Amino acid sequence: MPRYIIGNWKMNLTAKEAATLAALLKAVSIPPGVVAGVAPGFLHLAEVARLLSGTSWLTGAQDCADRDVGAATGEVAPVQIRDAGGKFVILGHSERRQIYKERNPLINAKVKAALAAGLTPLICIGETRTEREAGLMKTVLDEQIRGVLLDLPTADILKCWIAYEPVWAIGTGITATPAQIADAHAHIRRQLAIGYGEPVSKLPILYGGSVNPANTREILEIQGVDGCLVGGASLSAGDFTQILACG
Ligand code: PEP
Repeated sequence: MPRYIIGNWKMNLTAKEAATLAALLKAVSIPPGVVAGVAPGFLHLAEVARLLSGTSWLTGAQDCADRDVGAATGEVAPVQIRDAGGKFVILGHSERRQIYKERNPLINAKVKAALAAGLTPLICIGETRTEREAGLMKTVLDEQIRGVLLDLPTADILKCWIAYEPVWAIGTGITATPAQIADAHAHIRRQLAIGYGEPVSKLPILYGGSVNPANTREILEIQGVDGCLVGGASLSAGDFTQILACG
């Protein structure tokens, strides 16, 4: 299984800053066995994909529409992301769920639309602090898994990547403990095996939540962790390069 190190640039960077960061990353050698990617904002996706072309870097988007091209003002269709050079798309990120009130049925439709366009969905799931403290972590993960994968054929589920991102660890500087990460990843794999069969339990499951150069190695050594989804630290070429080197 490769290690996946994916940077989520969120709603950051000007065009010039995005191009500078992409140029710096282009010069970095990706360790063998690592799948490395970045998800710039839509406006910069085509240019970043162009700058990284000819390398092993993957470029992806942070969201996509739940449908094909047409009358959906303000949206970006998965095929437009493909056309711009995108290979994957982050879906169901907690910021989409919390700020824009995205729910599992919409995320499920986006997963289907992304797959139809040939994009790899990187599906984020994770519990809030309140849910964890109420003992609902596993219930929430189960609901999210069932909801986002609803009515998908196994062959399509096998094309997805999952990111376990405890909401309380995102952008907070608080990283889940190795025991919490191991427990959540093992639970997700069990649920995937029970719900969709053994091969699906082998899907790549990334951890996300305040990953930085100092904690990456330890996180990647945790049983069941296949990589990291990196937010804040992926905006620094130096930090992201160090994270990559742990892969
Ligand atoms: C994220 O946005 O997916 C994320 C994990 O952010 P951060 O690394 O900043 O916590």
